[in-house]
This record gives sequence, structure tokens and C-alpha cells, in this order.
Amino acid sequence: MKKFIYADNAATTPVSQPVLEAMLPYLEGEYGNPSSIYEKGRRALAAIEEARRQVADALHCKPREIYFTGCGSEADNWAIKGAAMALYKKGKKHVITTVFEHHAVLHTTQKLEKLGMEVTYLPVDENGLLTAEDVKAAIRPDTALVSIMYANNEIGTVLPIAEIGAVCRQAGVLFHTDAVQAVGNVEIDVQAQNIDMLSLSAHKFHGPKGVGALYIRSGVRIENFLDGGGQEGGHRAGTENVASIVGMGRAIELACAPGAIAKKRDHLVPLRDKIIAETLKLPHTRLNGHPTQRLPGTINISFEGVEGESLLLMLDLAGIAASSGSACTSGSLDPSHVLLSLGLSHDVAHGSLRLSLAEDITAEDADYIISSIPPVIERLRAMSPLWEKIVKEEQAGA
Ligand SMILES: *Cc1c(COP(=O)(O)O)cnc(C)c1O
Repeated sequence: MKKFIYADNAATTPVSQPVLEAMLPYLEGEYGNPSSIYEKGRRALAAIEEARRQVADALHCKPREIYFTGCGSEADNWAIKGAAMALYKKGKKHVITTVFEHHAVLHTTQKLEKLGMEVTYLPVDENGLLTAEDVKAAIRPDTALVSIMYANNEIGTVLPIAEIGAVCRQAGVLFHTDAVQAVGNVEIDVQAQNIDMLSLSAHKFHGPKGVGALYIRSGVRIENFLDGGGQEGGHRAGTENVASIVGMGRAIELACAPGAIAKKRDHLVPLRDKIIAETLKLPHTRLNGHPTQRLPGTINISFEGVEGESLLLMLDLAGIAASSGSACTSGSLDPSHVLLSLGLSHDVAHGSLRLSLAEDITAEDADYIISSIPPVIERLRAMSPLWEKIVKEEQAGA
């Protein structure tokens, strides 16, 4: 059989068998509408309330603080637009975020700017980090919201969320975090970390696509994003996607079960670091993202003189599914805004590779990845005018 290693888990993950099994009854006989009062409806309602408890347990909050959404992007949109709309009326028209958020956040804040709000885009350092002090310095009397991602989807850097949460709480400013990449990879406690709103998405932790959730701390009032029926306490209309919600509940329960995150970290970090160390032995390469404060399975490396798309196609031929920049921007020729935010040149950003590993990766798989990359890089560089230039310049300088 042809070798196949799926190393693009930051883009999406496969639905696990127990998650599929939890969902199937709700795609078959249990088709009741959770709003219906007869037994079949009540069973569907009970299933989504069980999922709400499972999500709440994973985040250390109350079930009634969890609202189901259609995806992670919707949760981000709702948190930011809902908070902005609620607070604009009170004269608060300033939002703080970072330059390297997911587009679900960046395109939302750009929309707010068009509507007359002011947005501060905090820069990040060469490792993709910023400090709580940076956030504190940017807060103004009219700041409505701070929205800073928990972990970056392209480079894997994990931000100091508890410290940022503390600064926002002290200043009395709402704090939202896009934790789509963090759930199941790092321990999250919304209370201890002073998080007011948190977005997550099931398909990033072995749940189905097209379902997410927004945690909204009780007492925080934001405007509805989707108006209509009375679902989700009257705050998010639309008949619930019962099967997917059930799947998300089971998936988060498994991903965040006691010991699961530590076990995943212990398995992945040595393999991640071995792939990084071996690959960086190639000349003119650099690791993107913080060397240690990073997600356990996320690797991002730039290869000078290499074009990312060609690299992906050649790795695909070798049976390795990976990505360059982010899946959302592939297909466009603009280099990733995340890599540019670290100070990389356009050329270097173009030649980047993201490998995102899941718990099922074996040591043999890691060795296969390690041995597959150098010949591909050598072949691509051999036909690259850019690489020729780099070598010539180096010889001239030497
Ligand atoms: C995947 C992702 C999203 C979007 O989630 P969807 O459910 O695909 O809409 C948002 N933010 C980050 C950081 C992501 O990785």
C-alpha cells in the first residue's frame, strides 16, 4: 500500500471512531427537533445538553455559559461583533487584537473599522509572541474588547493568555480568545485565566466540521449574531445541528480527559523536536514560531530558494499531506500574513512548510518525514533561479 501520512491536523482532523459512533443515532432514528415537547424531541434536547456539559467541563465553566455555533469562524464573528455592538452604544469604540490572528478575527475587525470603530493591531516579535504589558499599554478608556488568539494556527506559538486575561480583567475590558488551535493541546481554565469569551471548533479536535462553540462568561452581555427562534437561550437562532453537537461533546471529552493532554504532549513533543532539529540541518532554513512555547504537534519551517506550493506537491507524491502558510490562503499568491508579521521577507515566507501532527503519528512516520524532506528540497533548489542567486551572493560574500 502507498505510504500516507496526514500531517495537516491544524487544517482539520479526521473524525474519530467513538465520535462517529456517538453521532450516528442522531443521523438515523433520533431525528427529533430539540424544541419539540414530545419524547423524541426531549431526547434530542437531552443529547445537546449533555454535549454542553461536556464542553463546559473541558473549559472549567458552567454549561449555561456555552453557546453552540455553526463553526469556529462564527464564534469569532459573534464574540467580536456582538461585543462591539453592545459596547459601541456605551461610547466604547476601540478594539485591540494582533496582526497575526486568523482571518475569522482579522476580517471581522476590518469590518468594524469600516463601521467607524478603531482597531489597534498589536505586533508580535520574531517568535510570534507578545506580552501582557504590550496589551496593557494599548488599553484606552474607550476600549471595548481585547481579542487575542490562544495559539497561532500557522506557526503554533502559544500566547501568555492567563497574563493577558489578568491585565484585561484589572482594566475592566472584555477579553476574547480564539482558542480553536488550543483546545485539546493545552490545559484551558476560563475562570483561572480570566477569559470572558472563548471560541472553539470541533473539527480541530477529531469532531465533525461545521460546528463550534462560544463560551460567554455569565454576566457578559453581547448582541446576538443570528436572530430568529429561541434556541440557545434566545441568543443563537437556528435548529440545532444535533448530531454534530453530540459529536463535538464526545470529541472534547476525549481530547480533554484527565491525562489526555499530557499524554499527547509527551508523545508529540519529542517527535516534533526531532523533525525540527533534523530538518534545520539543511542550509538556509529557519524555524518559525517560538522554539518551546508552541503547540505540541505544530512545525513551521522556511526553506530559502524554495516555492511552497511545489514543496507541497512533491511531499504529496511522497505520501505526506502538509500545508504551506495556511489552508485558507493557499490558492492565493499573497504570502501568509502570519509569516510576514514575524519579519520574514516575501521570498522566505513563500518557501514555508507547516506540518501539524496528531496523536496517531509514530516514530517511524516521523523518520519517514525526516528522510523525505531533504531530497525534495535539493531537487527544488536545483531548479530554482532564486536559490542560484542565494548561492552566488553567499560565494561573493565569503
Ligand atoms: C480553523 C480555525 C478557525 C476557523 O474555524 P472553522 O470552524 O473552520 O470556521 C478559526 N481560528 C483558528 C485559529 C483556526 O485554526
